[in-house]
Amino acid sequence: MPQPALLHMTRRAFLSTAAAGTALVMVHPFSARASVGQAHLRLMETTDLHVHVFPYDYYSDKPVDTVGLARTAAHIADIRAEATNTLLLDNGDFLQGNPMGDYIAYERGMKEGDLHPVIAAMNTLGFDASTLGNHEFNYGLDFLMKSVARADFPIISANVVKQQGSDPTQDTALVPPYVILDRMLKDGAGQTHPIRIGLIGFVPPQIMNWDRKHLEGRVTTRGIVATARAWVPVMREQGADIIVALSHSGIGGADDQDGMENASTALALVPGIDAILTGHSHLVFPGPAYAGFAAVDAEKGTLHGKPATMGGFWGSHLGVIDLMLEKDGAGWRIAAHASETRPISRRNEDRSISALVASVPAVLASVQGDHDATLAYVRRAVGKTSAPLHSYFALVADDPSVQIVSQAQTWYITQMMAGTEHAALPILSAAAPFKAGGRGGPDYYTDVPAGNVAIRNVADLYLYPNTVRAVRITGAQLRGWLDRSAGLFNQITPGGQDQPLLNPDFPSYNFDVIDGVTYHIDLSQPSRFDAKGAELNPGATRIVDLTHNGAPVTDDMQFIVATNNYRASGGGDFPGAKGDTIVFEGPDTNRDVIVRYIVEQGTINPKADANWSFAPMPGTSVVFETGPGGAVYADRVPGVTLQPAGAAEGGFARFRLIL
Ligand code: MN
Ligand code: MG
Repeated sequence: MPQPALLHMTRRAFLSTAAAGTALVMVHPFSARASVGQAHLRLMETTDLHVHVFPYDYYSDKPVDTVGLARTAAHIADIRAEATNTLLLDNGDFLQGNPMGDYIAYERGMKEGDLHPVIAAMNTLGFDASTLGNHEFNYGLDFLMKSVARADFPIISANVVKQQGSDPTQDTALVPPYVILDRMLKDGAGQTHPIRIGLIGFVPPQIMNWDRKHLEGRVTTRGIVATARAWVPVMREQGADIIVALSHSGIGGADDQDGMENASTALALVPGIDAILTGHSHLVFPGPAYAGFAAVDAEKGTLHGKPATMGGFWGSHLGVIDLMLEKDGAGWRIAAHASETRPISRRNEDRSISALVASVPAVLASVQGDHDATLAYVRRAVGKTSAPLHSYFALVADDPSVQIVSQAQTWYITQMMAGTEHAALPILSAAAPFKAGGRGGPDYYTDVPAGNVAIRNVADLYLYPNTVRAVRITGAQLRGWLDRSAGLFNQITPGGQDQPLLNPDFPSYNFDVIDGVTYHIDLSQPSRFDAKGAELNPGATRIVDLTHNGAPVTDDMQFIVATNNYRASGGGDFPGAKGDTIVFEGPDTNRDVIVRYIVEQGTINPKADANWSFAPMPGTSVVFETGPGGAVYADRVPGVTLQPAGAAEGGFARFRLIL
């Protein structure tokens, strides 16, 4: 058995000068130490690539150092040089998730025989296998099957099937549930031996809800762990020496619960599974994100003692599992293991980003044509807006830049709630302005004129890669949520003139407007909450005339609110949004939902519906600052009377609001 301490020696300690040429090749300890009948096998994992091949952010139309399989590929080349035997595996969510994926799905399309760019890049790198992630189903089964048809490697999934039989082994497969790779393994003495490596793939069964419109009646899913228990013995019978699970599922509870979404830890309990590639959660394992999880060693990278990894997302990291295999009779057993991840970039102390590797030219070249076409796609119209989309007055009135986000979120959550126990409840949507001046300066506003909307405009509407959530809250919590937002405003004295309206310490992203109800904000009342969400005045409320469908909202009413993962899990400390009210965790980013909404609607109408406004205060005025670009819209802002009030510091423009 190897000395555990050896596993933690630095790569430099194993510099080998015996390599040919002048370059020093760093050999992994397992490869260096393997003797006769021992072999080092290195498993490399990419996961949640989401079509990121170029190191490029198509939304902001700029190169970035934090993403891209072309960069991860540099680590792949290094690792192949370091280890005697390697496998390159992808863990799913490769087909959707950036504008290049949308360009192929919505513009170019996939005809029989077409090569999808992410598959082209994966073919270039010589992947050994991949599994299906939940996002593979976003564009429908036909698109998926045409895309995987051109992969030069097997793409497997055991728990999404065309038709269920009496047990998983009797199901009618959509893609092969597993594959057994016959490989030659070189041992420490340079002898080659055959090995049969079993790979089996899993996807969250929740795809049936998330992509119901594409999947209902066409495929069904089973629980991940139950499916594994049925298939793994079959794979062993067929001679698999070791079995690796390609689990497009996060690291969750230690024990199986039927239908669990994040089942990778529970999966490790299945006898016969030797190592687990995890994903779906877009996190890094081993690493502190999973410290303290039951049955998880977040430093060593084990689940129930078995080696596992999670290689971040968008190509940010390469996950690596090292196995020291020992000849055991006719087969092989794992004598030692280690897990790590390799990042492609580093965040410096000043928050700047440094690339740690350079792009591999052959990988870039494999998608160059589609990359160029995607650049053209994000720069040209994909839909039309019948009203200008701007955020100049988002903090003082209902606003089109917030309205469109809520329209898209409501559209999406309505589909997701259909057929659930929450389907009968009213669906509201919470959204806040992200680009609203402040420290960003007087030009830091959304400003898209009526007419064409391009994909890159969506980045303007939704700056953060948040994912969609829905919470179920009471009328009392709804009021509290709105009062938390209304902490943006200073208390206003009736009859006073030109009083400063906005609290500069209150970030715009915490000013949630809730669509689907109507309300007024009474500025004469003290705020219930301070700028950070602490309750200052427990009995106070600024929210008046709160109605749903014309009827007053009472404390015991129930609502579904569409929002994002940040808010729903406690970001900003909002009543009703502290993590315990979540009823839906969407796999889709809010940005994707907006793009889909625009593409499917063709023409959008983001005209604000003035569902909220300030309660009238006769003879009272307030002032606030916005970008000078807002002047052209000032006479058309619904629900408020605005007057220009001169220039303000730093290039901002001052406006007066007559209450
Ligand atoms: Mn993903
Ligand atoms: Mg509205």
